[in-house]
Amino acid sequence: MISIDKISKWYGDFKVLSDCTTSVTKGEVVVVCGPSGSGKSTLIKCVNGLEPVQEGRVVVDGDEVTAKKANLTALRSRIGMVFQHFELYPHMSVLENLCLAQEKVLKRSRAEAVARSEKLLTRVGMEDHASKYPSQLSGGQQQRIAIARSLAMDPIAMLFDEPTSALDPEMIKEVLDVMVELAQEGMTMMVVTHEMGFARKVADRVIFMDEGAIIEDRPTTEFFDNPASDRAKDFLSKIL
Ligand code: ATP
Ligand code: MG
Repeated sequence: MISIDKISKWYGDFKVLSDCTTSVTKGEVVVVCGPSGSGKSTLIKCVNGLEPVQEGRVVVDGDEVTAKKANLTALRSRIGMVFQHFELYPHMSVLENLCLAQEKVLKRSRAEAVARSEKLLTRVGMEDHASKYPSQLSGGQQQRIAIARSLAMDPIAMLFDEPTSALDPEMIKEVLDVMVELAQEGMTMMVVTHEMGFARKVADRVIFMDEGAIIEDRPTTEFFDNPASDRAKDFLSKIL
């Protein structure tokens, strides 16, 4: 589904990604962790072409993202992405936030878009908030809306970049619960997070990055029970 093949990326002289290779198969959940500045956000942004690379190839569902002529707009409408900050449209109601791209990009009828939105709002436990504006919602509620908005596009995979790290502790669980459910339903997911409880529960594999390189890429239990590198051991001892 997602294939990342020997990608390297520089900002000027600074090598932010160094020969990274991994892949995510359909239905797989992969957690990406590692110290601040190790390149996690950059790596997942390369998957939907938000960041270009100088070397290597990224292929998603048979289409090369890194090709010069890649249709990134089409690709991005098929891959959901949820960031740390919720990035809902502040001047639009929750329902309009969910309907907008369905109507504009997927050309769904109004009735179809509303029906799909209502279904997803129920799924993330937000069915009573359709007419509210983002500023009237808690951070956890906004993040669940952001997830629902991505799902409304029927994505083939979902990318998450620290979706809970800007949230108060009591709101983290409500967002993680939605993500766990999504994972258990078979969504293909790449998730940058330091929520190791989430990783243990649903991740098939854990990728550990340091200084732009993938240091470990292993089945979840192996990673936690027996990290191979000193850097991963050190990292785990600090966050567990
Ligand atoms: P964090 O855990 O803090 O989110 P990260 O692992 O997601 O970190 P990235 O955001 O991918 O790390 O950044 C990797 C490195 O690239 C960092 O050292 C960062 O300062 C650098 N970097 C990111 N964006 C740019 C840019 N536009 N120009 C120059 N350097 C950048
Ligand atoms: Mg980051």
